[in-house]
Amino acid sequence: MSRLTLLILLVAASVGVSAQQRRTVSLVVTNGIVVTVDRDRHVIQRGAVAIDGRDIVAVDAAERIAAGYRGRDTIDAGGGVIMPGLINTHTHAPMVLFRGLADDLALMDWLQKYIFPAEAKTVSPEFVRVGTRLAALEMIESGTTTYTDMYYFEDEIARTTKATGLRGVLGQTIIGFPVPDAKTPAEGLARAERFAKEFANDDLITPAVAPHAMYTNDTETLKACRALADRLHIPLITHLAETNDEVKTANEKYHMTPTAYLESIGFFGPRTLVAHAVHVTPADIQMLAARHVGVSHNPESNMKLASGIAPVESMRRAGVVVGLGTDGAASNNDLDMFEAMRQAAFLHKLANDDPRAIPAPVAVEMGTVDGARALGMDKEIGSLEAGKRADVIVVSMASARQTPMYDAVSHLVYVTRGDDVRTTIVNGRVLMRDRKVLSLDEPHVLADARAYADKVRAAVR
Ligand SMILES: [Zn+2]
Repeated sequence: MSRLTLLILLVAASVGVSAQQRRTVSLVVTNGIVVTVDRDRHVIQRGAVAIDGRDIVAVDAAERIAAGYRGRDTIDAGGGVIMPGLINTHTHAPMVLFRGLADDLALMDWLQKYIFPAEAKTVSPEFVRVGTRLAALEMIESGTTTYTDMYYFEDEIARTTKATGLRGVLGQTIIGFPVPDAKTPAEGLARAERFAKEFANDDLITPAVAPHAMYTNDTETLKACRALADRLHIPLITHLAETNDEVKTANEKYHMTPTAYLESIGFFGPRTLVAHAVHVTPADIQMLAARHVGVSHNPESNMKLASGIAPVESMRRAGVVVGLGTDGAASNNDLDMFEAMRQAAFLHKLANDDPRAIPAPVAVEMGTVDGARALGMDKEIGSLEAGKRADVIVVSMASARQTPMYDAVSHLVYVTRGDDVRTTIVNGRVLMRDRKVLSLDEPHVLADARAYADKVRAAVR
């Protein structure tokens, strides 16, 4: 046997052995810049992620993943970014059907003349199914993998969300006047309890109870919501300190800030998330920090409705976990979380007169792992780490707008738009591949939404 033949045999044998030792997994996403958003903000320049079933099993350099894992399916990221899916901590998904219905109005006018009447006449189980499918399509297309919702018929929203493959923390609304799914808050609470029991221990859906706000519910109802959340161990979600009007109302009724009032009635407890927290005093911020209340910051909605500027830097300094949200599409008017990250960075630079405020890595954390922390879900989602659920997106960096690229994290905040997302994976399931949404019939979803808009138009005429 010649030395060359021997060498060839040895190489062949070693390749054979390493191939045998490779673990077969369901999916490998490779050939991308992996922005892990882990504790060390680790970025792997040519990396890959191995996924088996619903879980991430390894995050490493592409050649090391190739040596250790064989995917039954492989997705080539084409040199783009592989990152955790975005976490929208506040929206009202079906309100996409009110997108652009009424703009440029004061919040109370907008709510009382348009949104509440339109909701009273149109919101039904069918409305929320059609709206949730449209919202899910938009979220999958723009890289959101988990969203937090507050609306009516939340059980229908949950069934629809589960079918689309998205992860949801879904809050049944409780409100102090008759609404399409409940004549009284007590009916709303009963509905919330049934819904929570139906989805207990679900893989994708976390049911929650969602009193609309302190100014639309009485003390007794707010306390009952807290008690239900405690009894069923589910999250409690509400709007808080969104506008100056709300502060005025709290002052007149209770001689306290909205935050101090909720604290005084024992509302803040485990897994509590508040949306907005725009008008909070230093003492309010201390209360939110002490009670480990998560905050959802919604820069676009706050700007569009001129609600004010949430003191995000002060809250973060005080130890409050602040995630990002889009709010409902009627006050944004889209569900693009890349825009939410960019607008958060811009707004707080301007507000603080300091371009160092909310730098790009912080904006990405707010859109991913801080959202997970605000929801009490950071053990499961929010970063690319072995053992977490496989909620992963691939973002193209190939367009003129993305060229050249010195720093992927900078591009994610200051250049990227939702439609740069190529692939969206939730719980290990590929929901969109190369811009083709696989879990929804896109033409159907759009046609249904357009048909529903005629009913909305008639309702507000
Ligand atoms: Zn809202």
